[in-house]
Amino acid sequence: CGIVGYNGNLDAKEILLKGLEKLEYRGYDSAGIAIQNEKGVTVFKEKGRIADLRNIVDKNIGGKIGIGHTRWATHGEPNRINAHPHQSASGRFTIVHNGVIENYHLLQREYLKDVPMKSDTDTEVIVQLVELFANEGLSTEEAFRKTLSLLHGSYAIALLDNKNNEVIYVAKNKSPLLVGIGKDFNVVASDAMAMLQLTNQFIELQDQEVVLVYKDKVEISKLDGSPVARQPYTVELDA
Ligand code: GLU
Repeated sequence: CGIVGYNGNLDAKEILLKGLEKLEYRGYDSAGIAIQNEKGVTVFKEKGRIADLRNIVDKNIGGKIGIGHTRWATHGEPNRINAHPHQSASGRFTIVHNGVIENYHLLQREYLKDVPMKSDTDTEVIVQLVELFANEGLSTEEAFRKTLSLLHGSYAIALLDNKNNEVIYVAKNKSPLLVGIGKDFNVVASDAMAMLQLTNQFIELQDQEVVLVYKDKVEISKLDGSPVARQPYTVELDA
């Protein structure tokens, strides 16, 4: 399973699909991407191989920001509905997630009784909580932080907000996730391998940091909001 993300000046879909192909070795049962442009976020997802996903991605869809996922199902059978990305009730927020949210059932009962769930995944609870807290008046960043503070378990997360096409919201806990630094673009990946064709500069994230990935900057902070400064390291390519 794996995650990729791209925020830059190029068309995102091919970059995301190629990145997911590089992560195929990790194993997966379904895959998907979300592409954001001025019209909003569009999701393409499918059970099976990346090649099957390629077949259903709209060749004409443009967008320079996007996220992608290969799923290894833990909650909910492997099918198209349970494949990631998942969207909130109104469709405003779109998420990909690797890992397991151990208290998802509790969170669902406590906060989301009135929200009809679209899938059988633990993941959907995360994106529905972000929307719930945003509807209560929090900014997306605040809603994301509040949601993360409630989660027990493992996660690597990338989140899009269709009201803001400048940023990918990212966080991890006990699941791998890196940010890759480029010139006029930045990327996200479970494994540097997925994005080595674009950059060899990566920033390792610590558990429970919140990362805002813009195309021209990356802002890292702790869950409590205190800023983190960290330099990228160079991934050496095998000769
Ligand atoms: N627990 C999530 C699911 O079953 C994510 C699985 C994964 O890491 O791919 O959908």
